[in-house]
Amino acid sequence: LVELSGVQKWFGDLHVLADVDLAIDAGEVVVVIGPSGSGKSTLCRAINRLEPIQQGEIRVDGELLPEEGKALARLRADVGMVFQNFNLFAHKTVLQNVTLGPVKVRHRSKGEADKRARELLDRVGVGNQADKYPAQLSGGQQQRVAIARALAMDPKVMLFDEPTSALDPEMINEVLDVMTSLARDGMTMVVITHEMGFARRAANRVVFMDGGRIVESADPETFFTRPTSDRAKDFLSKIL
Ligand code: ATP
Ligand code: MG
Repeated sequence: LVELSGVQKWFGDLHVLADVDLAIDAGEVVVVIGPSGSGKSTLCRAINRLEPIQQGEIRVDGELLPEEGKALARLRADVGMVFQNFNLFAHKTVLQNVTLGPVKVRHRSKGEADKRARELLDRVGVGNQADKYPAQLSGGQQQRVAIARALAMDPKVMLFDEPTSALDPEMINEVLDVMTSLARDGMTMVVITHEMGFARRAANRVVFMDGGRIVESADPETFFTRPTSDRAKDFLSKIL
């Protein structure tokens, strides 16, 4: 469903994505881990062209990422993204946050978009917060709204970049539970996270990056019990 081949990207002299090949099947959950600065966020952002790449190809559902314009907007709508800092629209209500994209980009009617938004807000456990503003919600609630907002576009794949890193500990699990349930329902997901419990529980594959390269790619059981590279062993010894 998502295919990266020979992807290269530099920031000036820094080779931030070095010949990255990665193929993600429909329904697969890939957890990306690695040290700070290894290129995880850049990889995620390249998948929906928030970051341009200099060489290689990225396809989503067989289509090359277009450079710009309407085709890019359409393709981006197929790739939901959830960030560390929620990025909700502060001056819109929770419900408006979730309906805006479907009405503007997917051309849904207001009624249709409202109905679907309420279903999704219920699903992530914040159905009773629809008329509040983001600042009136806890971080965990805001992040669940951000997930509902991404899902409202009916994306083919969901990207998560450290979705729980900005949350207080007691709110981390409520967000991870929503993500685990999405994974069980067959959503294709790329998740950058330090939550190794989630990786063990929900991932089909763990991808370990270092220095802009994919150093290791294995199922979680294999990766956590028998990592092959010294860099992955070293990384795991620090975080586990
Ligand atoms: P972290 O775990 O800290 O989030 P990461 O693996 O997500 O790290 P990236 O954010 O992808 O790493 O960054 C990879 C490298 O690219 C880092 O060295 C970073 O400083 C650099 N970098 C990221 N964005 C830019 C930019 N816009 N301009 C220049 N360098 C950048
Ligand atoms: Mg990052």
